[in-house]
Amino acid sequence: MLRDGGLSRTQLDAQLRAGVLERVRRGVYAATSYVCSAARASVAHGGVPACVTAAEHLGLWVLEPDSAVHVWLTGDGHRYQHDGCTCIEHWDDGARTDAFGLPSVPRILRQVLTCRGVEEFFVVLESALRMGLIDASGVAWLRRHTNDAAREAIDLARADADSGLESLVRWRLRKHRLTVRTQVGIPGVGRVDLLIGDRLILETDGRVNHAGADLRHKDLVRDAHAAMWGYVTLRFDYALVVHDWDLVERAILAHVGAGRHL
Ligand SMILES: [Zn+2]
Ligand SMILES: [Zn+2]
Repeated sequence: MLRDGGLSRTQLDAQLRAGVLERVRRGVYAATSYVCSAARASVAHGGVPACVTAAEHLGLWVLEPDSAVHVWLTGDGHRYQHDGCTCIEHWDDGARTDAFGLPSVPRILRQVLTCRGVEEFFVVLESALRMGLIDASGVAWLRRHTNDAAREAIDLARADADSGLESLVRWRLRKHRLTVRTQVGIPGVGRVDLLIGDRLILETDGRVNHAGADLRHKDLVRDAHAAMWGYVTLRFDYALVVHDWDLVERAILAHVGAGRHL
C-alpha cells in the first residue's frame, strides 16, 4: 500500500490506468490484488476493518456474516463519502500502524461485544483462543475493558472448541448447569462434538454440503454405533442452532428431563 510517496505522479497515474493500483481514498492507493472489497470500503470510509469484518479477515468464526462493512474510526479520524456505503462505524481510540492495520484482537473482541452482543463475543473469543490469536495479557485487557457479561464469557471460554456452532451451543446451555464435555472419543463412534452427562451426544453440523448421500450415510452409521453402546444422539445444523434455538433447547431438555443423559 502506498500513501502519496514512493511513486511519481506520472508513475502513479500510469499504474492507476493499468489497473495495477487503485485509489481507495484521496492520497491512499492500493495494489488491486491486495485489498479485499471489505478492506477497500473501510479505507474509502476513512478507517480500517473493525469488529466482525476484522474478525472474518483474520479467519475467526463469526455467527452471521455481515454484508455491511464494520469500520474502525479513531478520535482524530474523518468519515469520508464513498459509493455504495452501508458501513457500520466503530469509534474508539487506540494505536494502529498504518491505514490497513487492523485493530488488535482484544479490541476487535470488544467491538464485537458492543455491536453483536455477548454470544457472538464468546464465539469469536473461543475462536481466537483456539487459533492462538489472543494471549493472557490480551484476555486480562479484555477483563478490564468490558463488562460482567463478557467476564462470564471469558470465564467459560476454552481454547479447544472445534467450531463456532459448538461454542454457541455450550454458551446457550450454560444456564442449565449440565455437564457438557467436548470432543469426547467414543468407542466405535469416534469423536463427538458435545456429550451431555454420560450418554447424550449432540452433533452440530456446520458443513456446507451436508446433504451429500455419503456423508449422510456415515452419520447414520455413527448414530447406529452410538445407539448400540447405549448413547442417544441429537443432530442439529447451523440453521436450527442459530435460528430455532428454542426447538433445539426443548429437544435437549426433553432427553435430560427423561434422564437419558445419565
Ligand atoms: Zn460492529
Ligand atoms: Zn462507508
